[in-house]
Amino acid sequence: MADRSSVAIIGAGIGGLAASAALRRAGIETVIYEQAPGFARVGAGIQMSPNAVRVLDGLGVGERVRQVAFMPPSWRNRDHDSGRMSNEHPLGPNAAAHYGVPYLLMHRGDLHAALHAAVPDGSIRYGHRLAGLDRSGRGVALRFADGAAVRADAVIAADGVHSVVRDRMLGAESPRFTGNAAYRATFPAARLDGRVLDDSVKWWGPDRHIVIYYVTGNRDEIYFTTSHPEPDWRMESWSAKGSLDDLRDTFSGFHEDVRAVLDACPDVHKWALFERDPLPRWSEDGVTLLGDACHPMTPYMAQGAATALEDAAVLSRCLADGGLEDPAMAFRRFEAARKPRTSEIQATSHRNEFMRRRTDPDWVYGYDAWTVELPAA
Ligand SMILES: Cc1cc2nc3c(=O)[nH]c(=O)nc-3n(C[C@H](O)[C@H](O)[C@H](O)COP(=O)(O)OP(=O)(O)OC[C@H]3O[C@@H](n4cnc5c(N)ncnc54)[C@H](O)[C@@H]3O)c2cc1C
Repeated sequence: MADRSSVAIIGAGIGGLAASAALRRAGIETVIYEQAPGFARVGAGIQMSPNAVRVLDGLGVGERVRQVAFMPPSWRNRDHDSGRMSNEHPLGPNAAAHYGVPYLLMHRGDLHAALHAAVPDGSIRYGHRLAGLDRSGRGVALRFADGAAVRADAVIAADGVHSVVRDRMLGAESPRFTGNAAYRATFPAARLDGRVLDDSVKWWGPDRHIVIYYVTGNRDEIYFTTSHPEPDWRMESWSAKGSLDDLRDTFSGFHEDVRAVLDACPDVHKWALFERDPLPRWSEDGVTLLGDACHPMTPYMAQGAATALEDAAVLSRCLADGGLEDPAMAFRRFEAARKPRTSEIQATSHRNEFMRRRTDPDWVYGYDAWTVELPAA
């Protein structure tokens, strides 16, 4: 064995970085193995609802993200053609007062960079694609595509919706393609020639929608993400491009404010949307899944990364509480603490009705992963 670490994390996405940062704060060092060759800034926005911001604060990165993020005064929901507002949900100072932390909109790259900075650089091994794992013997043996091998006492698999660890644990089964694709782009707001838009809005059509918001505190960068039926497109890659003509055709029946944003957009990416039903179990012996690896969901509630952050905080509490002597027990406790909530969020996200009409989101935004009661060990 070439290397040894007590806790190995697979994947340096939002879930893996947050898990490493949370465990570090609990006095547990980790090594992250990431298949990508290095950190890349993906051109996308991300919503961080109060339940997520609470975790970021606990990880010590809340101030950093507040400095770059946009705090929208409200979240608007409009009918796609007439623009009739079906629900304007107050955010801004209202949400900050109600939840104790704000609702933030930001560039995904800024969030990722903040989490990355909370983890020592030397503890991330890039270019390590996990190929297999073996739980016979003491601990867990990890094998990487380039032939490298390590043994760890505990493994946290934050390797996303196509998790190889999930496949090893439960058998290979592709996630369910929703039949929908998402366009997304970020670009300078100056391209809109001074047109005044909603700060943050979801335009609801019969079988498609578009979400548009600013991702910087000074509103100089705008982002949109969509969903529309496209049964023949199954590529899921942050770098896959879409056609601007197809994008504009897809939303040609939408309100002129939407069309103005799409007309100003210089370049667009496209992503096929996958999901899974709740898994029968998340952990086995010294291995657990976390984030999209165990509860991938449609992005319609903007809770995928938020719940991965919550996972990280709760998992760190379970491991800190039980110590590393019996990680399997800590992982079972983690799953018991988390699965009812993430299953409900997966189902709600699938229905794609959240916030369309007047909604009380306290059950989602009010959750505090640092203090929520844990099941008995
Ligand atoms: C269009 C869109 C918009 C979204 N908007 C929001 C939003 O506003 N708010 C929100 O909370 N969520 C949002 N989400 C969901 C969010 O992006 C995901 O839930 C979140 O990124 C999951 O994080 P993760 O760390 O679990 O997985 P990932 O981000 O998928 O990270 C997995 C990591 O593991 C690595 N990896 C994979 N396999 C291996 C392997 N075999 N060996 C080593 N490394 C491996 C990958 O390279 C990657 O770095 C959105 C999703 C989409 C598609």
